[in-house]
Amino acid sequence: MKRIVSDSRSCFQSRRQFLHHSMVLSLAAASGLTSVSGAFAADVIDASHAKSRLILLGTAGGPTPKPNRAAPAQVLVVNGASYVIDCGNGVASQFVKAKLKLSSIKNIFITHQHSDHNADFGNLMLLAWAADLQTKVGSYGPPPLAEMSKLFLQMNDFDIRTRIADEGRPSLADLFDVHEITSDGFVMQDANVKVTAALVEHPPVSPAFAYRFDCPDRSIVFSGDTRPSENLISLAKGADVLIHEVMHLPSLEKLIATETNATTLRQHLLASHTSTEQVGRIATEAGVKTLVLSHFVPGGYPFLPDDVWADAVRPYFSGNLVVGHDLMEL
Ligand SMILES: [Zn+2]
Ligand SMILES: [Zn+2]
Repeated sequence: MKRIVSDSRSCFQSRRQFLHHSMVLSLAAASGLTSVSGAFAADVIDASHAKSRLILLGTAGGPTPKPNRAAPAQVLVVNGASYVIDCGNGVASQFVKAKLKLSSIKNIFITHQHSDHNADFGNLMLLAWAADLQTKVGSYGPPPLAEMSKLFLQMNDFDIRTRIADEGRPSLADLFDVHEITSDGFVMQDANVKVTAALVEHPPVSPAFAYRFDCPDRSIVFSGDTRPSENLISLAKGADVLIHEVMHLPSLEKLIATETNATTLRQHLLASHTSTEQVGRIATEAGVKTLVLSHFVPGGYPFLPDDVWADAVRPYFSGNLVVGHDLMEL
C-alpha cells in the first residue's frame, strides 16, 4: 500500500508547479528556443480541427439517486479526447451509455467538493483503468482533490494490486495527475481546449469554480453550483453555450413546506443556488447564444416537464434555450 501511495504522490503537482511549468514553456517559446517552442506550439489550439461534442451525462441536482436523471456530469469531446466536467454518482456508466470509450478520458475537472459532483471521481478513474485506460489523466479541482485521490487509491489497494498482478494492468496511481486549484484564472491548455476557472458563490463550499472551455469551434461555460455570481457572468461573456444550474422555486416551496427544517433549507437554497428567473437574467447579461439548463432542483420528484422549466426562464432570456436531459448531445 505504501508503495502505491508514494508513487501516486509523485503525480500530484501543485498548481504553482503547474503554472511555473506553463510559464517556463511560454517564456522559452517567446525567446525562440526551437526545442521548447516546438512543444509549446503543440499546445496552441488548432481552429481547423473538427467540431466539439458536448454530452450531458447527468442533469439532476443533489446527491440522492433519482429514477429519471443521473447525478451531475458532462463530457466535452474534441478530436477524440474526452474532458469530463464533474463526476456525480454513475458517471462511468453514463459515459458508456453515451457510447464513448473510457480510454478517451484525457482530463477531469471537478467544480466543487460536494458529493453530487465528486462521488465518482475516483471510481471513474478505477473503472476506466479496469476497462482500457492506459494513459495519465490530468485532473483539476479544489482541495482536497490530492488527498481524496491518495485515500481512494488506499481504499482500493487490494483490487488494484490484484488486477495489476492478475491482468497485467499498469499502475493506477501513475495514471493520476492531480492539480489542485484554489484561485480563478488560467487552468490548462492543450491542442484542443483552453480552460479558465472563475470562483463562484456556493456557500458554505469554498472554493467552488465555474469553468470555461474555449474549443476550436466554440466556447462553453459550466456554472457548477452557484448563486447568481458576477464572476460567472464575466467568465461567460459572449460564450456560445452556458450550462447553468437551476432551481424551480414554486415547486421547492411545496416540497419544503412539508420539512421540519423548512426555514433553514429555504435559506440554504436561496443563498447557494440560482432560480429560473435569475438564470435567464444571467444568460442575458452574459450575452450567451445558448443557455442549457441542468442540475435541476428538484431533479427527481416532482418531475417537472420541459415546458415548466422553459416557461419559467423564457421571459428573461431571448436566446436559444435548451432544457437538458441525460445523454443529450449539443
Ligand atoms: Zn450540486
Ligand atoms: Zn454543490
